Amino acid sequence: MSDSARFCFHDRLAPLARRGAVCDYVFTGRPAVKDSIEALGVPHTEVDLIIAAGRSVDFSCPLQPGVLVDVYPFGCLPEVAPRLHLSPPLLERPAFILDVHLGKLARRLRMLGFDCRYRNDYLDPQIIALALAEGLIILTRDRGILKHARVRQGYLVGSSEPERQVCEVLERYRLHQQIRSLFRCPCCNDLLEPVPKQQILHRLLPKTARYYQNFQLCRGCDQLYWQGSHYAKIDRWVKGLMS
Ligand SMILES: [Zn+2]
Repeated sequence: MSDSARFCFHDRLAPLARRGAVCDYVFTGRPAVKDSIEALGVPHTEVDLIIAAGRSVDFSCPLQPGVLVDVYPFGCLPEVAPRLHLSPPLLERPAFILDVHLGKLARRLRMLGFDCRYRNDYLDPQIIALALAEGLIILTRDRGILKHARVRQGYLVGSSEPERQVCEVLERYRLHQQIRSLFRCPCCNDLLEPVPKQQILHRLLPKTARYYQNFQLCRGCDQLYWQGSHYAKIDRWVKGLMS
């Protein structure tokens, strides 16, 4: 004997839901609401609030026949009290691990100073294991990895365009005030340190040596950085993001 419940996915969850923003879900037994939401295509990491029959519930709540379940992402505040937020609290200094398709996003987030693990040969189990061991937030465009039961923190990146992806991540994790340029190496993720010009003079072209005085060295890969002519464009981009 099967029962049904009605689900309503709100805001950015609506396009993720496999059968539309509002759908009837047929089930047998008493599945946890989390399993039902994931069966409808929405990873649990995307969900912050579940309102079942007008009451804020957690992921383990058994699904009841005939119930209306409203599902909200982080940032939505429907009028219900008390509200049981299911997303982990925002971290002051979040660190990320990105899947193999997000190399351009990793590079940009590092340019903004954010700690981003990325390798183009990571396998999903490695990403999950590292995320759990080191408290990293998984950024991915593959919802399968986020449905893994052990994954606690993750974000399904919506856009395929790297500049839009940066805006999404800054917005989701409220990072605009934490942007620091020339802080982290975009190539290897290690930190940059000021280096005396005299020490790296032999590595500079004559024009660079003549016009620039301040240099940063990556302590991981030895790459040298300075605010050269290209930097004005980066600076405009950073200021645009911060505003
Ligand atoms: Zn480096």
